[in-house]
Amino acid sequence: MRNVPLHLVLAQVHHRRGPVVTVLGALMLGTGVMAFGVSTSLPDAAQWTVRQVVEPVEAPLATAAPTAPSTDFLVHQSETTRRDDSLQSLLRRLGVEDRDAQYFLARDATSRLLLAGPSGKLASVTRTPEGQLHGLTVRWVDGSQRVSRLVVQAQDGMYRSRLEQPVPRRLVRFGGLTLRSSFYAAADQAGIPDAIAAQVVEAFSGDIDFQRDLQRGARFSLVYEAFELEGETLFTGRLLGAEVRNGKDSHQAMWFQEPGQAGEFVSLDGTSQRRAFLASPLAFSRVTSSYGPRIHPVFGVQKDHKGTDYGAPAGTPVRTVADGVVTFAGQQGGYGNYVVIRHPDNAATAYAHLQRIAVRAGQRVQQGQNIGTVGSTGTATGPNLHFEYLVKGRRTNPTRIVEALGANTPVLAQLPSFQREANAMREQLVTAASVAWASVQ
Ligand SMILES: [Zn+2]
Repeated sequence: MRNVPLHLVLAQVHHRRGPVVTVLGALMLGTGVMAFGVSTSLPDAAQWTVRQVVEPVEAPLATAAPTAPSTDFLVHQSETTRRDDSLQSLLRRLGVEDRDAQYFLARDATSRLLLAGPSGKLASVTRTPEGQLHGLTVRWVDGSQRVSRLVVQAQDGMYRSRLEQPVPRRLVRFGGLTLRSSFYAAADQAGIPDAIAAQVVEAFSGDIDFQRDLQRGARFSLVYEAFELEGETLFTGRLLGAEVRNGKDSHQAMWFQEPGQAGEFVSLDGTSQRRAFLASPLAFSRVTSSYGPRIHPVFGVQKDHKGTDYGAPAGTPVRTVADGVVTFAGQQGGYGNYVVIRHPDNAATAYAHLQRIAVRAGQRVQQGQNIGTVGSTGTATGPNLHFEYLVKGRRTNPTRIVEALGANTPVLAQLPSFQREANAMREQLVTAASVAWASVQ
């Protein structure tokens, strides 16, 4: 049996002299409305503190509210704000019939946040059965996932409001799903948020066609971030890792981010889902002279051409075909303005005759970054980019890059930080699988 998403809510009511009464109720988490009563034998309930403790439990759906007969008890009720809500309509849904409260909420600047901005805020009240407001809490999460909480409390015969910005706790969640019809249907059924499911598709985009390749019974194990506040999940974050077992195939992917660089999904062997090398250092260009023997255009003698020439107007941006570190940026004889970039796996690329150089030696560059412009400095007949591909220091035919494009290159495998994270993720994926499959037994 799967875990029943049941949560037990424990409300403790304390008087100044100590606990007076404790009442238990049960409710389904995730429903928009919750209500339970807290019975007391003391008249001045406004002086009490009401604390809620939410703890996950496995339990059958218990009978709801307590039935202790009493005239003095508080009702706790929640509603989600709607786009067309007025203060009156929202308070009515919350069962608040309290002119003083309504007057305060309408005039207090902080309280006006209740209906300002986007709707969908969670508003909870504590009130008497007759509708007199004791406390109001409104919680919302903005676009940059910042949590705000407006708290209004009745105190000493008046209302006070304050705005809090609680920091949610980051948790790592494990999940799993088995494919029965479509991937998204399975994700839905397993309670995996859409935002996480979409990242799973992205993570395996290089390995799996989600429309065609997935077989019935394919199993996914997932490790992802969730952000909680007081026991409740507010939103999920990034998919950290995933494994799919699809027939005889299995793939593992994880999110990896080097300091100062954009993160990406990579397989656990360090293979990037993106290509290690761009096909060309110019976005639009034509090859005017290929690698190999030719009559040199300036010297008129047979010489091996150790690179590829791209014809392009002077000033055309030149981009590095792969991530790397600039090892040379400056003038060098016939090369004119010349840039050399070292890449992983003992590879390097070089760019000659540049009009302008936009990088300096020692600088880290990312694939596609502009490193200068096409020019005709050094020995050149006109504006062109002379491009070289070096493997272990030897000038190699750049068409080899194109040959390597089909296969993914393990670009990260050598990084110690990657090895550590990949090993940790392997263990987490084992945990995710055991957690996920234990719950379907
Ligand atoms: Zn050349």
